[in-house]
Amino acid sequence: MRKPLIAGNWKMNLNHLEAIALVQKLAFALNDKDFDKVEVAVLPPFTDLRSVQTLVDGDKLRIVYGGQDLSKQDAGAYTGEISGAMLAKLGCTFVTIGHSERRQYHHEDDEVVNAKVRAAYRHSLTPILCVGEDLPVRQAGGQVAHCVSQLDGGLREISEEQAKSIVVAYEPVWAIGTGEVATPQDAQEVCSALRARLAELYTSEVAAGIRILYGGSVKSDNIAGIMAQPDIDGALVGGASIDAGEYVKICRFGE
Ligand code: PEP
Repeated sequence: MRKPLIAGNWKMNLNHLEAIALVQKLAFALNDKDFDKVEVAVLPPFTDLRSVQTLVDGDKLRIVYGGQDLSKQDAGAYTGEISGAMLAKLGCTFVTIGHSERRQYHHEDDEVVNAKVRAAYRHSLTPILCVGEDLPVRQAGGQVAHCVSQLDGGLREISEEQAKSIVVAYEPVWAIGTGEVATPQDAQEVCSALRARLAELYTSEVAAGIRILYGGSVKSDNIAGIMAQPDIDGALVGGASIDAGEYVKICRFGE
């Protein structure tokens, strides 16, 4: 009932010409009927979005896309910011919010993350709300409490109707870009706790419909184990998403 989602976070990589080349390769490789079973998304830098939109619209590609961040404001004197309205106008479906690199390098706390989640909904964008613990928290066994608390913070004042469409990404900070992937069991432990919390915040029915992704050093040789977990509905892929061949294999769950 939950359609798997594989979303590629390109981070600050690829200019708009390189973006076109990558999306063309993905579209060519993923253009078969099996691909109705998985939703494939790319999350390029802002400067690439117009090129990706032109390609996706022009060739009617079955790839969706989104931004890696957005402003909590809707418009005005906020130099350097990009609004939800701007992303929506570019045809974005998704926007990642609360990625650990934003939390770490831009000091985004749960309050900012929540303001951005609300901004996304004002412009009909689907937030991919990222949560995850760092290594000391995991070593102390606090991963579930930490991630549940970030989930609560991000979803403050988000209605049941809005929450139905959210995507949650569990991304342990110690696994991002390190090559150290969580075991499928470790990822499942946190993802099932997140789903249980969603059921408490909303209803079991709403929680059962929300897609929860795992992110952190996902590759074609570990995706199958991750996808086999009952509470994991896809992956947020960083480094491996800018390698067309590898990303295509991940989208095929390693086959
Ligand atoms: C990410 O940036 O969200 C991520 C999961 O990165 P990587 O796959 O490179 O660990």
